[in-house]
Amino acid sequence: MTMTLSRVRLLVMNAALGPLDYRVPEGMTLEHGSVVVAPLGPRQVMGIVWEEEHLPTDPVPEAKLRPLLGMVDVPPIRAELRRLIEWTADYYIAPLASVARMVIASGGALRGPATMTEYRLSGGMPERMTPQRERAIAALEGEQATIRELSGLAGVSEGVLRGLVNQGVLEPVEVDVDRAYPRARHDHDRPELSEDQASVSARLVEAVGRQKFAPFLLDGVTGSGKTETYFEAVAEALKLGRQVLVLLPEIALTEAFLGRFEARFGAAPIVWHSSLKSTERRRAWRAIASGEAQVVVGARSALFLPYARLGLIVVDEAHEISFKQEDGVRYNARDVAVMRAHFEQVPVVLASATPALESLHMADSGTYEKLVLPSRFGGAQLPAIKLINLTEEQPGRGAWIAAPLRAALEERLERGEQSLLFLNRRGYAPLTLCRNCGFRFQCPNCSAWLVEHRLSKRLACHHCGHETAPPEKCPDCGEPDCLVACGPGVERIADEVAEILPDARVALVTSDTLNSPEKAAEFVAMAEAKAIDVIVGTQLVTKGFHFPELTLVGVIDADLGLEGGDLRAAERTYQQVAQVAGRAGRGAKPGEVLIQTRHPDAPVIAALEAGDRDAFYDAETEARRHAGAPPFGRWAAIIVSSEDDAEAREAANRIGNTRPHLDDVMILGPAPAPLALLRNRYRYRLLMNARRTANLQQVIRDWLRQIDHPPGVRVGVDVDPYSF
Ligand code: ADP
Ligand code: ZN
Repeated sequence: MTMTLSRVRLLVMNAALGPLDYRVPEGMTLEHGSVVVAPLGPRQVMGIVWEEEHLPTDPVPEAKLRPLLGMVDVPPIRAELRRLIEWTADYYIAPLASVARMVIASGGALRGPATMTEYRLSGGMPERMTPQRERAIAALEGEQATIRELSGLAGVSEGVLRGLVNQGVLEPVEVDVDRAYPRARHDHDRPELSEDQASVSARLVEAVGRQKFAPFLLDGVTGSGKTETYFEAVAEALKLGRQVLVLLPEIALTEAFLGRFEARFGAAPIVWHSSLKSTERRRAWRAIASGEAQVVVGARSALFLPYARLGLIVVDEAHEISFKQEDGVRYNARDVAVMRAHFEQVPVVLASATPALESLHMADSGTYEKLVLPSRFGGAQLPAIKLINLTEEQPGRGAWIAAPLRAALEERLERGEQSLLFLNRRGYAPLTLCRNCGFRFQCPNCSAWLVEHRLSKRLACHHCGHETAPPEKCPDCGEPDCLVACGPGVERIADEVAEILPDARVALVTSDTLNSPEKAAEFVAMAEAKAIDVIVGTQLVTKGFHFPELTLVGVIDADLGLEGGDLRAAERTYQQVAQVAGRAGRGAKPGEVLIQTRHPDAPVIAALEAGDRDAFYDAETEARRHAGAPPFGRWAAIIVSSEDDAEAREAANRIGNTRPHLDDVMILGPAPAPLALLRNRYRYRLLMNARRTANLQQVIRDWLRQIDHPPGVRVGVDVDPYSF
């Protein structure tokens, strides 16, 4: 609704500034949500025209108002999204501007150039044909795409494509940034659904047709066809001309997903993630805002895009921890997705084989509608799970694969079937020390050990990225050639497999090796072509992949996640092991899972062995109820940091000393945070445990508002922290 406004209040894209009032110049027609450019001292600032009553401040007298400089040529931010921005800032105790920036700044150069370069086949042939070049040429047949898009489509590196450009095989075309995307068709290639799938999809399709807020928990075992099933809801939204957002936890998963999506709908969706180039960002953002974009598949940040007519949100693998953002605005995309669906009045589907306890609780209490797919598609059986008790079956010195797992690996190789070994630890060894004096290599910026990465010949910190070459002698005692690796990482397990099975083709899958869409596509292609016998990987391999020839999964150390006092340790262990187990036996051949553990009697391990999910969730529910933990109570953390230890400690004490005394909120600390030094900042933490009925956010805001700190101190709040 356009109004003739003579003055406006802006939410400016700068967290340090409050709301600012401006005069609207003659001839400029604005409405709430309009994106504008305003003068700020000698500089310029971008802002969004906001409802004054939502942004209280002392009004600037008429005479002192400065005029706006101009409008940004994008559709106004809709009221539904403005309300989501306010809710997110309020709930997660973050500055409004920081949340709004996730909407606006994500558009990259919103005011950038109007054209971009794409490439098409010139008809010429390369001097020398390679399999990669062949793939690139086949992928571009009859199409045109940016180098980045083509690299993803064909699964080849940008370097290969640049080579083809230099040889004139690919020719550049300048196109309008607002060029349309290929159209997806709801009826392109519809599969025959099983009876269970059909009844679940009918519920979802009906909800999409109604266009009202409707949260669903799609609870289906691994391989049950959750994706096929919610694709029917996507098809219905397409039919109605509504946009769809699918959130995925990991960019490595996107490649496999895109292939399936394109097969089903005849065109690729728009992919949104943090490493898009500025022009691609701008093109996608504008297409989403204009309503031209049909389906967006993205990481959590896709949640804050300005959809013009959203019709459905899907959060796939909704239990994944990567939906929780751990810096900047600390939000949980799974929960914000439900709120966005609420404001937009559309259905939202949380899909998982191992839902978070909070999600199950919402379903059991009737807040979410639970839809269940109880069995694998096509009659595939869930794998048999056996434990290997490491206290009885000890691998030899410097080895981590016990005899029964070894034998199972050998058997699979003989039969020509694939195996997967899971250990959630990147690198070669988690700790390196000096054999002579016991010196341990520690990160200079963090309270953490440096992890040896033998492939890249580095010692690396997994928290701040600090890297150094392993020294020839001990930095402490000077002894040469004295470094010993302690404990296993995946690189070391891959070495062990190579020793046990010298003829096996081993693939290492971690975020170090699978760090781009091309590499992910290449890995999937090789695994599908059976060019890999054994996959060794971190949590990256627990997700999404579907390899029908994979019949053995080995979990190297199921106890790893149970160490430490983390409240979600049991749930996370259950989810990881159940998910990785779900990679076995997805085709015609039955799967087997061998779990190495020192604690076969721990409830979570016993539940995994028995395949008794309910037993695990029941026990976990009781433990959480007892601890007043989510979903029965709420947690929040206040994290105080500074580059100066004393300054951080004093600030934390200042906060601690002014704590409110309440019946329904318990406050613990301050104490050094689990990572007491992180990226050169000393960190202290206060933990709050509140009853469900307490207004935790109000308590925190009122409390922190009274206290001033030196400029070097940062105070961050983590509402519903994932782990601690
Ligand atoms: P989930 O997401 O529940 O783990 P997927 O959607 O990945 O399961 O399905 C597992 C496999 O079964 C995939 O290869 C998928 O293509 C196949 N599949 C599932 N449902 C159908 C169906 N109705 N028709 C054909 N193939 C199906
Ligand atoms: Zn570090």
